[in-house]
Amino acid sequence: MAGRKVSGVMGIKLNCLSCGHPMEIGDAYEDYEGEIRCWGCSTTLEVALREGKLRSMKMSNSSPASRPDAGTAR
Ligand SMILES: [Zn+2]
Repeated sequence: MAGRKVSGVMGIKLNCLSCGHPMEIGDAYEDYEGEIRCWGCSTTLEVALREGKLRSMKMSNSSPASRPDAGTAR
């Protein structure tokens, strides 16, 4: 479909929300929605990438999602 390939995108850089560990993921993830695992602290991050740009990222700990908690303990 999209025959346009932007060269120069060698990797996508993220920082772990939990430990701040810099992560670089391959350009295979330029359109990706799902989980990645920080290899610094093993936190699972839920990311959404579009065209190599980070759209959203959040921690995906195994906490009950049906709970709008206000105080996030560190
Ligand atoms: Zn981490």
